[in-house]
Amino acid sequence: MNFRNPVHLITGKNCVKDYGELLCSFGSSCLIVTGKSSAVRSGALADVTEVLESNHIRYEIYDRIAQNPTVASCLEGGKAAREMGAEFIIGIGGGSPLDAAKVVALAGAKDMTEEMLYGNDWPEAALPIVLVGTTAGTGSEVTNVAVLTDSRHRKHSVHDDRLYAALSLGDYRYTMSLPKSFTLSTGVDALAHCLESYFSRKASDISRAFSLRGLAILLKNLPLAGQPTEEVREALYNASILGGLAISVTGTVFPHNVGYYLSENYGVPHGTACAVFLPDLLNHLEKAVPEEAKAFYDALGTDRESLTALIKSTLPELDIAMTEEEIAAALPRWENNGSVKNTMGTVTAEDIRKILTEKFMQE
Ligand code: NAP
Ligand code: ZN
Repeated sequence: MNFRNPVHLITGKNCVKDYGELLCSFGSSCLIVTGKSSAVRSGALADVTEVLESNHIRYEIYDRIAQNPTVASCLEGGKAAREMGAEFIIGIGGGSPLDAAKVVALAGAKDMTEEMLYGNDWPEAALPIVLVGTTAGTGSEVTNVAVLTDSRHRKHSVHDDRLYAALSLGDYRYTMSLPKSFTLSTGVDALAHCLESYFSRKASDISRAFSLRGLAILLKNLPLAGQPTEEVREALYNASILGGLAISVTGTVFPHNVGYYLSENYGVPHGTACAVFLPDLLNHLEKAVPEEAKAFYDALGTDRESLTALIKSTLPELDIAMTEEEIAAALPRWENNGSVKNTMGTVTAEDIRKILTEKFMQE
């Protein structure tokens, strides 16, 4: 086994204020990186700025991070950080602003271009990163990954130890303002992380412990009856962190990468886009690695039908119609893809063609 995670993670009610001094220990000025409204609506921005002000930390706010954040917005945020002389970066939001904050911290240390980012021409160190999550799904708080959309409108991840947060403060109460649709799409993203990680070729006893605990929590709490209670919010947030720890060991497998295509081309939210393919993963595993699949269901006290039903209960109707030509044009991206090859049992681009055809091909 090979496990390393240098993030100082603190979760729980009021943790931003309770650990305010720690939050302010990374320098005397910072850039807050966030989206249009999540930081305000969740209450996280008010808590963070109160702590910064009482500790006399100078700050500016860069709030132009959209869903599926672009490289260009991160480079623009980096420029803002350099111009104000930011000594550290605070990301507030869901996975989109958190991922973006990691790359702003890189570009805040050195003027970068998209080519430099994807060509690994990086500064020796990024600015210190503090993350404050407002969704319960991506686990970006504890991963060294940032998923960005490039100038050709393709989602690509970058990963490196320089992208680990120095500190992640996770107060589940910030997720209370999430509408039900995003609670489900982010919750099923956490489920996808735990499940995909379990069946990754890189899975280990440690990553599987994270996966199984995360899944046990999700099986109990993700079927949402009515408005989620504080207790449910906290459980979902913890499961999302466990999923992040699992994928920080293994990465994801094919549903995530095929899901990127639905987000890029059909605007499907990340978690939903990946979860659409989880029933196909379960079908594949039953045939390809039946003993591993049985041990997995036994450990969770569930079966394929029940897990499939839970996943499907989170999915909205998707208005997607693909042509044979479109599917054929997309296939090369999965021919030599790391996440696809990382799936236990063999998955080929041809398998993905069949899945897309069956699900989305126009009559
Ligand atoms: P998101 O894209 O960050 O946010 C989705 C929507 O929810 C946005 O409109 C956002 O508003 C809103 N929102 C967020 N928190 C809210 C709150 N507390 N109350 C009300 N609205 C809120 O969603 P996400 O699913 O967390 O992140 C998805 C991104 O993370 C994708 O790009 C995905 O590829 C990436 N990802 C990264 C990792 C990793 O390891 N780094 C893993 C999985 C996925 P705003 O517009 O104001 O932000
Ligand atoms: Zn994900």
